[in-house]
Amino acid sequence: MTMSNLANERADLSDRLRSLPSVDRVLSESALHEAHGRWPRQQVVEAVRAQIDLARSQIRNGGEASIAAVDIADLAWRALEAGLRPSLRRVINATGVVIHTNLGRAPVSEAAARAMSEAAGGYSNLEYDLDRGERGSRANHLESLLQALTGAEAGIAVNNNAAALYLTMAAYCHGREVIVSRGQAVEIGGGFRIPDVLRDAGATLVEVGTTNRTRASDYAAAMSRDTAAILRVHSSNFRIVGFTEEPSLAELREVAEQNANWVPTLLIDDVGSGCLLDTREFGLAYEPRPQDSIEAGADLVLFSGDKLLGGPQAGLLVGKRAAVDRLRSHPLMRVLRPDKAAIAGLSATLQHYLLGEAVEAVPVWRMIAAQPEDLRKRAEMWRSSVGAGEVESSDSAIGGGSLPAETRPTFAWTLDHPRPTEAARALRERETPVIARVEHDRLILDPRTVLPDEDSAVIEALRQLVGGLD
Ligand SMILES: *Cc1c(COP(=O)(O)O)cnc(C)c1O
Repeated sequence: MTMSNLANERADLSDRLRSLPSVDRVLSESALHEAHGRWPRQQVVEAVRAQIDLARSQIRNGGEASIAAVDIADLAWRALEAGLRPSLRRVINATGVVIHTNLGRAPVSEAAARAMSEAAGGYSNLEYDLDRGERGSRANHLESLLQALTGAEAGIAVNNNAAALYLTMAAYCHGREVIVSRGQAVEIGGGFRIPDVLRDAGATLVEVGTTNRTRASDYAAAMSRDTAAILRVHSSNFRIVGFTEEPSLAELREVAEQNANWVPTLLIDDVGSGCLLDTREFGLAYEPRPQDSIEAGADLVLFSGDKLLGGPQAGLLVGKRAAVDRLRSHPLMRVLRPDKAAIAGLSATLQHYLLGEAVEAVPVWRMIAAQPEDLRKRAEMWRSSVGAGEVESSDSAIGGGSLPAETRPTFAWTLDHPRPTEAARALRERETPVIARVEHDRLILDPRTVLPDEDSAVIEALRQLVGGLD
């Protein structure tokens, strides 16, 4: 670059900086007329000043910022609007991951959403006995449903499954020992580590066996006067394959009973997902079901409400009457109790299972059960409506720390895009964000996890995306 070129460019730069409009000039733009009635003047002024500053620094850095007052006014208006938008927003999950931990895990059924909204928007008999006209218990709303579905004598709900485990450890194992297989003293996700939870609740972890193989005799050898419980933790989010061995719950029941001569030893099973249906009927590996653990003799079975159960965030505890009642009256129960909306949503969700309609009514099961042929039709419908892209076979994951490495065959809408990560970002930045996958430089949207009433929003988003390419 010659000296004169450089000088010209500098002159051009300072020209552009000088031509940036004043705050007053931008404030008088019609794009901001409505803003003056909606926000305090100072806030509008600050929004304008911020956009002028942004344009200035973009120009200095060689960027392409517009210096037109009308454009800056428009950006300021959008920034003001964005400030009003709630941080937690509805998004469309086109990733094909059914229980997406980052996207709020399970969407609840229509009936559950309605029940939650009704409980939240009015008064309820949360802790009121309508029969007697006096104080009742919030713990009673779910018990009979949990009994009927799992065969347990008793059941309660808490804030989440981590809370269920913490409460159990604090109530039964404080100052005592808990025997856990070495292959199960794991991290569940998000830094939730079984050894840390036990230590924090005041329990002493006694690890037995090896990472890949633990036998009933290993547990038996570790039993002592200080043993409060045997804890089994389902390996929700990982799988050890090959030369492995873990005793069955029935075998652990026998081990626990052998200690009963001295002190009662509780058999606790954290099954993780709360899967009430048989996953093998859906072409998936077996995922432990709470009712199977109750039948095999567990004293307490713990599971999440918002994984394969498909309800709101909650932890459910079912088991022997005496074991559950002690948790019910523990002081921590007040700390960990679920709110009325969660109870209403859980109740509606559990009803679906009781009525045998879970596969149709509970979204996660409807998604898991969706047939590839039907998914192909939906992806084709997207493609013909958008007028671009391709339909290709792909895999959907179950996700959410359930059934690791298990996938279901699907058909996805895919697009060869010159800048796929930018395309994914454009979809995320929409008023209703659409979350897609990028694999091998291709944009991929899986209809399996898109709710049927979101189809038109996905098509509109893809049309605009593809339109922007021309
Ligand atoms: C997911 C999971 C938890 C934690 O459950 P949250 O509902 O997320 O608190 C605990 N144990 C197991 C085995 C899990 O899979």
